[in-house]
Amino acid sequence: AGDTTRALIHSFDLSELFPRRSRDAHKGSFGHVLCIGGSKGFSGAVTMAARAAVRSGAGLVSAFVPEAIHGLVALGVPEAMVHSSMPEGDWTAVLAGCGMGRSATTTEQVLQLLEISSVPVILDADAITVMAGQTDALVSARCPLVLTPHPGEFARLFGLKVADVQEDRFGMVRMAADKLGATVVLKGAGTLVASPDAPVAVNMTGNPGMASGGSGDVLAGLITGLAAQGISPFEAACAGVWLHGKAGDLAASEKSQATMAATDMIEKLPEAFREIS
Ligand code: AMP
Ligand code: MG
Repeated sequence: AGDTTRALIHSFDLSELFPRRSRDAHKGSFGHVLCIGGSKGFSGAVTMAARAAVRSGAGLVSAFVPEAIHGLVALGVPEAMVHSSMPEGDWTAVLAGCGMGRSATTTEQVLQLLEISSVPVILDADAITVMAGQTDALVSARCPLVLTPHPGEFARLFGLKVADVQEDRFGMVRMAADKLGATVVLKGAGTLVASPDAPVAVNMTGNPGMASGGSGDVLAGLITGLAAQGISPFEAACAGVWLHGKAGDLAASEKSQATMAATDMIEKLPEAFREIS
């Protein structure tokens, strides 16, 4: 079994992770994110993920979405290059799943991504759900892998009940990371991050105002953007959950937990970043 100790995520540990910005830096110096997701009627999730990736410090952001929502996503994230057929590119991290739907096409695309990617792959939402019963493909993937399930997605992936997951969150995330050989982020109050060779990291930022649609998409885009800059998947996940929670706390103190929205958290990322640098 893996490391059974736990550690808190501290802001002062995070500032060292970010690449230095030399005066002659250019956009190619800070990685290129690809966000695969969206489906007809569901353009918001992938749009918010890509917007969070833009706010992560990544140099370039691209999205691959169905033709039907191409224009909506392009308008929603003016900084991103938006494609409706699988683009070629020098991605340094790839996100799949946000608003993607659970069709056979999603399964096919996720399996293909796991097979061909050599750069970190982050799976969220529907990309996790469609892997239920296919965890072998996750185990055999050669790319570094990060999964960001909420308790419901975690339970579906492993054929468990949500209550069982919530009763032993620590044991569950430890098991998942060891079994899959991946970084696993078990979301919800006190988000846990596990990877095979590290203590389980516990996050203390965040608040129940973040329990609303789009919140997880922001986290997924942020973690992907951090990984795209060369931060290791486990550290990108730890930094991502801390910054995401801090942005949520800043949004809540400005707007209230009740009225804050996921897009407010994206707008608070710059302020959250300032607290670690
Ligand atoms: P999702 O369910 O995919 O939209 O993800 C929800 C996001 O909001 C995750 O990052 C959760 O950790 C966070 N979140 C939801 N509820 C809470 C809560 N009660 N306290 C702290 N964070 C939360
Ligand atoms: Mg989600």
